[in-house]
Amino acid sequence: MTSAAGSALPRFDVAVIGAGIMGCASAFRLAERGLRVVVLERESAPATGSTGRSAAGVRLQFSDETNIALSASSLREYRDLPEAAYRPIGYLFLVPPDQWDAHCAAVPLQRRLGAAVQVLSPREAARIVPIDAAGLAGATWCAQDGVVDPHGICLHYANRARALGASLRFNAGVTAIERRPGGWRISAGEHSLLADRVVNAAGAWSGQVAALAGLSVPVDAARRVVFASAPLPAALMRATPYPLTVDLGSGFYFRSENQRLIFGQSNPADSGFSEGIDWPWLDTVVASALDRFPWFDQVSLDRRACWWGYYEVTPDHNAIIGIDPDEPAWINACGFSGHGVQQAAAVGRQVACLAMDEPTEIDLASLSISRFRQDGAPRMTRERLIV
Ligand SMILES: Cc1cc2nc3c(=O)[nH]c(=O)nc-3n(C[C@H](O)[C@H](O)[C@H](O)COP(=O)(O)OP(=O)(O)OC[C@H]3O[C@@H](n4cnc5c(N)ncnc54)[C@H](O)[C@@H]3O)c2cc1C
Repeated sequence: MTSAAGSALPRFDVAVIGAGIMGCASAFRLAERGLRVVVLERESAPATGSTGRSAAGVRLQFSDETNIALSASSLREYRDLPEAAYRPIGYLFLVPPDQWDAHCAAVPLQRRLGAAVQVLSPREAARIVPIDAAGLAGATWCAQDGVVDPHGICLHYANRARALGASLRFNAGVTAIERRPGGWRISAGEHSLLADRVVNAAGAWSGQVAALAGLSVPVDAARRVVFASAPLPAALMRATPYPLTVDLGSGFYFRSENQRLIFGQSNPADSGFSEGIDWPWLDTVVASALDRFPWFDQVSLDRRACWWGYYEVTPDHNAIIGIDPDEPAWINACGFSGHGVQQAAAVGRQVACLAMDEPTEIDLASLSISRFRQDGAPRMTRERLIV
């Protein structure tokens, strides 16, 4: 095809913006369908955004059916993928009385969708992780939940996409997206190209990328810090890893990472693109830890092993997946709000269906961007279990 200026530009069926886990999973599944795919990534390698900074948890314990289905479908894929290094260390949710009924209401749905979730008393929960059970109504436990290797998964998808003919371009930050008859003209660093469709997989920057095309996609950044302990003292070492344990009263979570613990708690006041480790927030995190897990007083911090990254958040802390209702040549796969790693495998397959104008395998209606664009109050998803 020839551009308006007369010079021939390379043309693709789909341009994927972002080479995180969403962009790479999407590119792989699109290329598998025989589409001509280009991936445009601002940085010099895949997985340098949120993907490389996640806590790597995968869980089936959600309350919204679509979230459970996306995670369950992804987990089935990760289980068989050596690069995913799936470790089923389990997720333990500790639940205060005011959340108990609503929390347990999701258990039948979780079980129907294949999650072997157990409802535990505080005493039973304390056999899995030592706790001060004061003020706890109970807990839920799912042994299938666990952790994966987000880098390994992302690089695997990038390699598979490339092997199937996708063009991966790094140091290619997208700076302009213009609507043209039949598609888009995109400028990214030294690259200019045409694409019939765009997949917006730019993570925390997805709102900014959409704005280049004149679209409003409500995704913003929220900094999250992962604190890391020094190797644990002998008294705290155990034969099995500490599962990913979440105290829903405070939002504090921790899990084993080899000989250490990693832990954190979302700071609700932290929003936008603030950088660096939020050290003052550590006092709140430690207070939450000691409240529920008094033995944390034996845990010492390794300041150099801590890290931070951006959650890519939407107003209801759930993803936006689907063809934009106002722009059929634009597909959003963004706004995963802290649970994208565990959904990426399934999202890649859904994006391929969308690009082929096929029905998706999983009903994505609750994650449509329409929920934020309708008149009146937005129709938020029913998801309760946001960490
Ligand atoms: C501290 C922390 C803990 C987390 N824990 C978990 C967890 O336990 N489990 C879980 O499932 N998820 C977790 N997450 C969330 C998870 O990491 C994300 O949901 C997921 O990685 C999103 O992937 P992505 O590909 O959409 O975004 P990213 O990995 O951020 O990729 C987006 C890419 O787009 C690129 N980009 C941006 N703008 C442009 C542009 N203009 N042009 C070209 N490229 C551009 C960026 O450079 C980036 O590489 C966590 C996140 C953080 C920060």
